[in-house]
Amino acid sequence: MSEVKMIRIEDAAEYVGRVVKIGVWLRQKRGGGKIAFLQLRDGTGFMQGVVSATDVDEATFKLAEHLKQETSLYVTGTIHADSRSEFGYEMAVSEIEIVGESENYPISPKEHGTDFLFDERHLYLRHQKPYATLKIRDELIRAIYDFFHEDGFLKLDAPIITDSAPEGTTELFPVDYFGKEAYLSQTGQLYAEAGAMAFGKVYDFGPTFRAEKSSTRRHLTEFWMIDAEMAWMHQEQSLEVQERFIAYLIQRVIDNCRVELKMLGRDIEKLASYTKLPYPRVSYDDAVKLLQDNGFKIDWGVDFGSPEETFLANHFTSPFFVVNFPKAVKAFYMKRHPTRDDVVISADLMAPEGYGEIIGGSERDTDYDYLKQRLIDQHLDLNEYSWYLDLRKYGTVPHSGFGLGLERLIRFVAGEDHIRETIPFPRTLNRLHP
Ligand code: ATP
Ligand code: MG
Repeated sequence: MSEVKMIRIEDAAEYVGRVVKIGVWLRQKRGGGKIAFLQLRDGTGFMQGVVSATDVDEATFKLAEHLKQETSLYVTGTIHADSRSEFGYEMAVSEIEIVGESENYPISPKEHGTDFLFDERHLYLRHQKPYATLKIRDELIRAIYDFFHEDGFLKLDAPIITDSAPEGTTELFPVDYFGKEAYLSQTGQLYAEAGAMAFGKVYDFGPTFRAEKSSTRRHLTEFWMIDAEMAWMHQEQSLEVQERFIAYLIQRVIDNCRVELKMLGRDIEKLASYTKLPYPRVSYDDAVKLLQDNGFKIDWGVDFGSPEETFLANHFTSPFFVVNFPKAVKAFYMKRHPTRDDVVISADLMAPEGYGEIIGGSERDTDYDYLKQRLIDQHLDLNEYSWYLDLRKYGTVPHSGFGLGLERLIRFVAGEDHIRETIPFPRTLNRLHP
């Protein structure tokens, strides 16, 4: 007899009516009497295996009845179309071969608290919700590379160990660098600016670290950031790139992750509406007025906190830009406004449905003396930024850029309540394990 073909669950549709073998784990089991229903997964999908006492020998049926959750096994059987299941196919199992036993698997089918699930994250990854979310993450990562590649950007990897703190010194993770104090990177932006002067349009995409001392649904201490930087580009053109980028990413997930979006209960129609451009631009001034009119005790000049962000993000029905923030709450490199001294040419892109900020960006100031003074005013060490100032000394040009947090994007696209769901092993104020 010829060897039975090994396949993966995702390919089941091509094997209807044929006998195949699949390496799987057992998620759950139900049944009784003369039939056992095995809920199986193999990393590419989820499928039911049906073991019928009338079709298999007694030993195989007994084996099926005694299988424990997360046992790994080979199942051999015939693939059938099954219109009742979401997946559409099932296997009539004829043979079972146990590969790895599993006793007392901790994540039983009952409801568990989130803390428990994240203590068991190394196992929780196997379950449907993380599966769907992390598949979407994978699609978005590939889509990000594709977008930039198709749009003529060069990928320029920024260093992870640095001696600068462009986003403020309160959220740094120090590293002992041969006796000198260094930090884990908070953003690759300054390096991307150097890259833009060399290659025109560049992006970087890597892990970034911020010692966020409060726990929110939007902050991790380790997250992945995409920085894009474009020479010869003013802010309005940068906003156009940003909205095109976000619409492209959303569309890719709709096209390629429909099953996963459904698993998560994400409203696909709503998501599709966010590919309609342009996104509204709202000034910081108007956003503050809107908040004040709705009972928030916020003064002009203050950065939005979580409640303000959530309110604004519920008020709008599409992603929207809040533009021209107060200079005092933004980073030193943001471009001065041509007629106002109190704001900078910046924009945060906010996601609707309460999700809030996903992108922070700005036009960058081009003037050497101004930036040097800003560094002094912010008590930053001029020696550490001398190379950055060089970019204004040798052929300075208008340029703009933005930073997108990958996990913020996933949270919004996948419709996750909490950012910890969007990364395989989250790092937060209270979590470093596993
Ligand atoms: P927030 O006000 O929400 O703390 P920020 O203004 O500090 O954000 P930026 O410095 O503009 O953020 O960083 C660019 C992007 O990086 C943000 O728009 C967001 O998507 C992402 N980001 C920033 N901090 C975090 C974090 N702690 N966890 C996850 N993503 C983050
Ligand atoms: Mg922050």
